Amino acid sequence: MASGWRMNLNHDYAVNLLKGMLEIYSPSGSEEEISLFLADEMRKRGFDRVWRNRVGNVYGEVGSGRPTVLLCGHIDTVPGRIPVRVEGERIYGRGAVDAKSSLAAMLNAAILLKESNLKGKVIVAGVVDEEGGGKGIKSLLRENIVIDCAIFGEPSGIDNITFAYKGHLKLKVTCRTATGHLSAQPLLSNAVEEGIKFWLKFKRICEEKYKSPHGVFYSLTPALAKIYSRSTTGSIPDICHMNIDLRLPPTIPPEKAIEIVASAIEGFRGECGCDVGFRVISVVKPYVADRGNIVIRALREAISEEIGGEAGLIRKTGTSDMNILGLHLKVPVAAYGPGESILSHTHNEYINIREYLASIKIYKRAVEKIFNYMVK
Ligand SMILES: [Zn+2]
Repeated sequence: MASGWRMNLNHDYAVNLLKGMLEIYSPSGSEEEISLFLADEMRKRGFDRVWRNRVGNVYGEVGSGRPTVLLCGHIDTVPGRIPVRVEGERIYGRGAVDAKSSLAAMLNAAILLKESNLKGKVIVAGVVDEEGGGKGIKSLLRENIVIDCAIFGEPSGIDNITFAYKGHLKLKVTCRTATGHLSAQPLLSNAVEEGIKFWLKFKRICEEKYKSPHGVFYSLTPALAKIYSRSTTGSIPDICHMNIDLRLPPTIPPEKAIEIVASAIEGFRGECGCDVGFRVISVVKPYVADRGNIVIRALREAISEEIGGEAGLIRKTGTSDMNILGLHLKVPVAAYGPGESILSHTHNEYINIREYLASIKIYKRAVEKIFNYMVK
């Protein structure tokens, strides 16, 4: 089977690798097994250097010197098992779209690049906790790996490139009221009911003031992710916590979003029967890449040469590790990967096998182009 690698993509290997990755359930926080699996796989495939870091990120390197292109995917998924199965042209499984197909394709592309005359170095990184707090990408940045540009493996569809992601601000808002006997409810305010009043008010503020006519990408969009209460004496709830997730357009950086929340809370204090406050849980700034950067140029050309037509440049309303690395290292980046992102985090995640295989060739071609642009 190994001889099939000589310059050619081995379809059976590529499909089996992806299936193997999907068989390993790896929600954020439980990535050890898949990390070890990929390290082993890259060693077997003759990567020049393979290592894992403290948090469980896995890396494989082919080639040497500069330029160095980082192909970065994530090895965690959201929770929720989906039995791995092949139906016609589709492979179903948790992470089939977000984002194991992308990472498997990157690994296959690196194997093909190793067989060719590489003009630099390629590092394939599988990082942990992308769906959580981004522990993996942050620890990658602390390793001070020298890279010249990066492609992030996230579903964009075979003929699209993602150049922009929204930011996020995760908050915990807490309402506290006096407690008392449930039978005294007409006389007491209820922390859960106050919490709901605040949420509805805040949602209305976002819709009225921060909804852009240019669509969701440019709007401040809030979601109530979780609401839970306590009643310290077992009676009327006197504490209500709400986890609120705000998605930030490039026009509203986190500091501005925090001001918006603080002012909504200030306004609510005047009209409610509770003590209300908030705490910031996590922040990721919005990120918009330069559409003319070399990574995007290379991907556009690679897509049109492999599958024909013009690649689309898209903005996504989610957030990704690209935001963190792009802002930190200030090198050219873009996100690209097979799969329809609408299927991400659903119970129906599947990847089209042909699309997955085509993406391997596109990654490979794009990296070759980047080397050609950079090595004069
Ligand atoms: Zn993802």
